[in-house]
Amino acid sequence: MSGDSLNRTRNIGIMAHIDAGKTTTTERVLYYTGVSHRMGEVHDGQAVMDWMEQEQERGITITSAATVCEWKNHRINIIDTPGHVDFTIEVERSLRVLDGAVALFCAVGGVEPQSETVWKQADRYGIPRIAFINKMDRSGADHLRVIDMLKTRLRTNPLLLQIPLGTEDRFRGVIDLVSMKALVFDDDSRGMRVIAQEIPAEYLDDAQNARQQLVESVCELDDELLESYLEGDTDIPVDRIQKTIRKGTLDLKITPVLLGAAFKNKGIQQLLDAVVEFLPSPMDVPPVEGKDAQGQSLSREVEGPFSALAFKIMNDPYTGNLTFLRVYSGKVTAGSSVFNVNADKKERIGRIVQMHANQREEIKEARAGDIVAAVGLKYTKTGDTLSDENAPLLLESMEFPEPVISIA
Ligand code: GDP
Repeated sequence: MSGDSLNRTRNIGIMAHIDAGKTTTTERVLYYTGVSHRMGEVHDGQAVMDWMEQEQERGITITSAATVCEWKNHRINIIDTPGHVDFTIEVERSLRVLDGAVALFCAVGGVEPQSETVWKQADRYGIPRIAFINKMDRSGADHLRVIDMLKTRLRTNPLLLQIPLGTEDRFRGVIDLVSMKALVFDDDSRGMRVIAQEIPAEYLDDAQNARQQLVESVCELDDELLESYLEGDTDIPVDRIQKTIRKGTLDLKITPVLLGAAFKNKGIQQLLDAVVEFLPSPMDVPPVEGKDAQGQSLSREVEGPFSALAFKIMNDPYTGNLTFLRVYSGKVTAGSSVFNVNADKKERIGRIVQMHANQREEIKEARAGDIVAAVGLKYTKTGDTLSDENAPLLLESMEFPEPVISIA
């Protein structure tokens, strides 16, 4: 894959405490990206609803270990990330293969003990995150309390990118603090269409104060910006703010925070935009590390010989086993042989498929950065490395340094 298309790939997980709305959010993301991908930009609320109803009849599959969708010319692979501590090894496996994550919180429940466990795991893997505070429509929704919990319980540095327009069941939009626009979720399209407006007068003071805070936090991330800010230059261009937020997120210095109500399609487009804008591509993460045949440590750039990690095996009624792979370097073609480094055996990859919301697409080859499912592997187990036979690389095995204690 060329660097350019790799730059336009996002491999993400959605981390959430049970009941925070992960299923709903994933479904809405798949609906929305499906609509916009097929129809171009969505202006017509009715067309969206027709499409959603058709899709609902056929059933959206979100039980796959990885589902691919498209947004604004980017390919987003959503890797299923279990939210429950009981599945901690599965959580670790999924964290191992993703580059960035959306951490979902309920606007009422906030940070739950289990969210803390998964958050710490993601810290250990150095995974950049954005936070989505969901269920802003619920009575008792309090995003400021959640933000406080992000600071005190998760010890992260949240950066609020939006303030809500309306509270609880009157939550009707957000004020985007970067562009300083009011984004209103249109009720006629059941929230799927977003209308950008001037900020209503009664919100202007709050919005200006919140933006000032945002600008100050952004300046603290960049010495040059801070210097000119302290000299009185507070008028920072929007693209500079965005770039600095992206860098701060990738360096794990901040967690951008967005608001929404997935159930009513509210905030989904802004969440997708933030995934594309702020989360890393496979080019932004360090080269994969492993050991060569002599046991020497080795890191491998994306252009290097083929290497991939099998992170999940699912039984499929039509094809038998589907082995989900994250390709780290090089490429592999359907029908070719690969070397399973753990089993010390050659294996043939029959077919390669990509799982979409409601269909699977057969592809000829998988390249660095891709998340795909291989059909026909016989010996490969979860956690095994597949590699070029002539340049074997054993990817680092997963470490589980801390025993996980369930909190009742
Ligand atoms: P998961 O366990 O994290 O996958 O959560 P689900 O997506 O299954 O959602 C749990 C419950 O919360 C369901 O009853 C959803 O309908 C509800 N829910 C999800 N998103 C929202 C939201 O934005 N607002 C409200 N009020 N309810 C929501």
